[in-house]
Amino acid sequence: MVEVPKGVPEHLWSSVIELLDTDIAPFLPYLPGRLEILYEDPGEGRMGITRFKMDHNELERRRRFRMGPGEVVILLHPELIDDPALRDHTLVHELLHASGLLAHDSLHSDLAEKIAPAPTLKNSVVLQRMRQRVLESLPERTWLCGNCGHAWERRRVTRPTRCPKCARPFSPASK
Ligand SMILES: [Zn+2]
Ligand SMILES: [Zn+2]
Repeated sequence: MVEVPKGVPEHLWSSVIELLDTDIAPFLPYLPGRLEILYEDPGEGRMGITRFKMDHNELERRRRFRMGPGEVVILLHPELIDDPALRDHTLVHELLHASGLLAHDSLHSDLAEKIAPAPTLKNSVVLQRMRQRVLESLPERTWLCGNCGHAWERRRVTRPTRCPKCARPFSPASK
């Protein structure tokens, strides 16, 4: 029986251990029992964050010697509770950091995409809400194309017939 860290769905954990080995993810074997997952706002508009108790140099040293990273906490934004697909994607992103893939390189993003792909706008209430906030923050005098997302300044009162970027018949994004 594989030990699964508390708060991590079993299917995600099995994909993580299937795709990672201790060469690329030396902290992986240490995570069960030492990893805590909390639903708390990580701040700065982020959806998730991984916190180690050790500083970066100490972590690098422990990576080299295949030692454990000590206690690790992953914070996930409480909004993610309503959005399983984005929750899984964010959680896997952070689990990879916690396992020892500290950098945002292509290995990190390829693995995250493979284990739990980022949802499309259509499939994610949180991404839709984020987009809505962007729309609401745009100045009033802006047209926003509902097709390609291009925004441009309103110079005339009449609605443009075509989007200057994608040239599709103009339908404004809903506000
Ligand atoms: Zn990250
Ligand atoms: Zn357009």
